[in-house]
Amino acid sequence: MEPAGRRKGYRIVTDVERISSAPIKFQKDVPVAAEADVLVVGGGPAGIAAAVASARNGARTVLVERFGFLGGNATAGLVGPFMTSYSQDGKIQLIKGVFEELVERAEALGGAIHPRSVEGGSEYAGFITYGHHRVTPFDPEAVKLVAAEMCLEAGVDLRLHTFVCDTLVEDGGVAGVLVASKSGLEAIRAKITVDCSADADIAARAGVPFHQGRDEDGLTQPMTLFFRVGNVDDATVIEYINRMNEYRPFTSLVKAARERGDFPIPREAIGIYRTPHPGIWRVNTTRLHQLDGTDVRDLTKAEIEGRRQVMFLMRFFREQCPGFENAMLLDTAAMIGVRETRRIVGEYTLTADDLASGREFDDVIALCGYPIDIHSPTGSGGTMNKEAFECANVYQLPYGILVPQGADRLLVAGRCVSSSHEALGAIRVMPPAFAMGQAAGTAAALAVAEGVEPRNVPVPWLQETLVKNGAYLGDTVNRRIKSGERSTGS
Ligand SMILES: Cc1cc2nc3c(=O)[nH]c(=O)nc-3n(C[C@H](O)[C@H](O)[C@H](O)COP(=O)(O)OP(=O)(O)OC[C@H]3O[C@@H](n4cnc5c(N)ncnc54)[C@H](O)[C@@H]3O)c2cc1C
Repeated sequence: MEPAGRRKGYRIVTDVERISSAPIKFQKDVPVAAEADVLVVGGGPAGIAAAVASARNGARTVLVERFGFLGGNATAGLVGPFMTSYSQDGKIQLIKGVFEELVERAEALGGAIHPRSVEGGSEYAGFITYGHHRVTPFDPEAVKLVAAEMCLEAGVDLRLHTFVCDTLVEDGGVAGVLVASKSGLEAIRAKITVDCSADADIAARAGVPFHQGRDEDGLTQPMTLFFRVGNVDDATVIEYINRMNEYRPFTSLVKAARERGDFPIPREAIGIYRTPHPGIWRVNTTRLHQLDGTDVRDLTKAEIEGRRQVMFLMRFFREQCPGFENAMLLDTAAMIGVRETRRIVGEYTLTADDLASGREFDDVIALCGYPIDIHSPTGSGGTMNKEAFECANVYQLPYGILVPQGADRLLVAGRCVSSSHEALGAIRVMPPAFAMGQAAGTAAALAVAEGVEPRNVPVPWLQETLVKNGAYLGDTVNRRIKSGERSTGS
């Protein structure tokens, strides 16, 4: 019988005769499945906004996502609510544009509550006040549908169930990617690629330098498997937690259980968030330390241990927590929640000082208000309090954090942009990811239209386009646009 490779008309070259651990040389002609102006990798918050913005700005856009639906952590990760899109004091809405549109459309389906009516300290905000004014509770099913509709209406060529496994590099720049799916191995070629994989998969494989974890030891924030519980007695939960008025929900119950030797999870309390649906709450409490989200063995370990912790917590809820006596496990997330992996080295690296001072950047592409929220890489606590880090009421994100060093024709948006470990603790949440995605998708489309490298996109033109498409970049940019100062773009 002929070798399978020859029958299919391609060659597989290996340098070993029998099973061995030596690297395998693999060579194959793969079809080009699509050619795009802009290729967006990853359909999470950053990728959704990048693809919609790119297509709306006239670029032929392909969006590749490994799951069968969009949303990333917002859907597959069951993560929520959308953290604040407002200034830290909850007074000014900072993140709008694609994010706002998605929220409004989800709200129209009964699948979200607009942040303007959600108070910090409320049950929707996990009973937390600091940094939790004006969060957005939402239903992941609504987000799956709305995100796909927005992409399709914008003309995005959507490729679900497609995993990007390598980057095509030509002449020092990214020329596209290699994907694997039920259709086999294929290539997608693009003029500009936007890496919204959250792990900087495309950038790392193109040779872009990156950091991972804290400067001192490389440890990252822990992972968490989200889950949802139903059949909760909302009124009893809210009454109990408000009456106890503890630092976080169920602190004393957790402390007592730990003292009895019956709370094996490194957490001081229970993170619970009411959803838009009666009786259904999200739980953000499992914790898995010292695992690497870019290592498949660690990811496997985290999924299994995460589910063990969920089962423990379900027992704890039913036996200990008022209002949860009849609670049932609705679902666990389709993927372990990874808070932090690679952070690329870009044209600019955002720091905690920039956030503390509210530093103004000429190339501002988004405003944010969420403070530095680092879950301890080794312990049970975190920095979600005023004392740990200073953070301005409003701070700015510059375009330079999206522009990688070391590879042309590439932009990065979302959780893996160029920032310190500390600054990432703030900008990693979903509304900033949407805002960064919208900026990167817009910049990519402008770069294609002008025939320039992303780093040479005229910033005033980018800002003007973002504002025209609903983004808010602050009064300085608004005044400049109003005064009619011409941008340098065509
Ligand atoms: C446990 C936990 C709790 C959190 N709590 C909150 C919260 O309450 N509120 C909040 O706003 N934020 C929260 N966050 C932060 C937030 O969820 C993420 O940082 C945010 O989703 C980042 O957006 P993103 O688009 O960069 O990445 P993601 O949401 O991770 O999306 C990345 C997408 O890329 C896809 N992808 C990745 N690699 C590939 C590949 N090679 N090929 C194809 N597709 C690929 C993924 O499937 C995914 O859809 C939390 C995060 C975690 C982990």
